[in-house]
Amino acid sequence: MTTPTYKNDLRGASLRLRGVKKIYGNNVVADDVSIEISPSEFVTLLGASGSGKTTLLRIIAGFLDPTAGSIEFDDVDITTVPVHKRRIGMVFQNYALFPHMDVLHNVMFPLEMHKVPRADRKNLAREALAAVKLEGFESRKPSQLSGGQQQRVALARAIVMKPRLLLMDEPLGALDRRLREAMQIEILKLSRELGLTVINVTHDQEEAFTMSDKIALLSDGKLVQYGAPEELYLHPVNDTTAEFLGESNLFRGKLSRSSTSWVVDDGHVNIEVTDIQASRFAEGSQVVAVVRPWSVSVRSRDHSNPGGVQGAVSAVIYAGESQKVLVTDERNKEYIVRRTLEDELPVEVGDRVSLRWSPEHVVVTAPMVRN
Ligand code: ADP
Repeated sequence: MTTPTYKNDLRGASLRLRGVKKIYGNNVVADDVSIEISPSEFVTLLGASGSGKTTLLRIIAGFLDPTAGSIEFDDVDITTVPVHKRRIGMVFQNYALFPHMDVLHNVMFPLEMHKVPRADRKNLAREALAAVKLEGFESRKPSQLSGGQQQRVALARAIVMKPRLLLMDEPLGALDRRLREAMQIEILKLSRELGLTVINVTHDQEEAFTMSDKIALLSDGKLVQYGAPEELYLHPVNDTTAEFLGESNLFRGKLSRSSTSWVVDDGHVNIEVTDIQASRFAEGSQVVAVVRPWSVSVRSRDHSNPGGVQGAVSAVIYAGESQKVLVTDERNKEYIVRRTLEDELPVEVGDRVSLRWSPEHVVVTAPMVRN
C-alpha cells in the first residue's frame, strides 16, 4: 500500500456559522455572528483585544458551546459534535510543544491520542514534517530549534491528523517582525498547497492583509464586516472598519449640499465628496468621510483655500521608501499623510502647511451603531 500524500488526501471543509451567540452573565461576547467559508479559504478573525475572536475560534473548535446558533462543516451540523471528532488542527501562540519530546514524537502525539495504528505513526509524522520542510530535524528537541522551526513543528503537528480545518490562535505573535513576515508567507503557501481551510486569529491588520482571502472584522462580539481585504479597505461599511483597516483621516459630520457640491461638514472643515458617494445617504445624515493618508498631499500654506485643512507639521517619520507626515490643526486634530520621497514639498516639524486631496478619493461611510 502506498502512503497517501497530503496533497491527495486533504481537502478543506466548508464552514458555516449561523447566528452564533455566546453570553457570559450580561456580557454578549459573540453577538449573532453568521459567516460562510468556502473550502480552502484562508479567513482571518480580526479585531481589537476583547472583541471576541478567541471565543469564536473556541466555539468553532468545540472547546466552548455557543449559547445559541449553529456550526456546520460541509453542510453538516456539528454544533454538538465533541472536539476530537471535528477533525480540526490547531496552532497556538506559544506553540505548546512538549519540551522533553523530540520533534518526531511531538508530531506523532496527536496520532497516539487518536489511536492511529502504531505502524503508521512514524510515516505520517515524517510526511507532515516533509510538508513543512523539516526533514532531518526528527530527533532534535524543541529547545534546539529556532522560533520559526518550532512554529513549523507546531504546524506539522496540527496537520498530521489531516484536519478539515486548521485553526490558528495568534500563532505568530511571539515572533520578531522579520520572522513573522516570513512565516506568514510560508503558512499561506503551505495551506494553499495542502488545500486547507484556515481560520486565523489576529489583532494585527497587516497580517490579516497579507494572509487572508477574507477578513471577518469583529468589534464587541459583533461581526462588523466580512469580505476580501481590499473590499474592507476600499468600501468600509462603517467607521469601525475604516479605522481598523489601514490608517485613515476621519471627518464626522452632516452630509449637506453646498452651492457646488456635496460636503461633509464636521463643524470646522467642509469635506467635498462626489455625488456617487453622497447618493448612498440621505441629506442631513450623520456620516463619516474617510481620507486615506496616501491620497493627501502637503502644500505650502494656502490662504486661498480657507475651508480646507491648515495646520503645522508635528512629525516627519521616515519609513524606508516612504515618509509619514503628521499635521496638527488649530483644534489639535492630527492628520496622517503618507508620501514618497520624490517630487514632494520638503517639510520639517513646525512648518505651516495646507493639506489637499481630490474629492474622488474620499469615501463616505456610516458611523457604527452601538447599543
Ligand atoms: P479576543 O480574543 O478578541 O481578545 P475574547 O474572545 O478572548 O476576545 O473575549 C471576548 C470577551 O469575552 C472579553 O470581554 C472577555 O473578557 C470575555 N470573556 C472571555 N471568556 C470569558 C469567560 N470564561 N467568562 C466571562 N467572560 C469571558
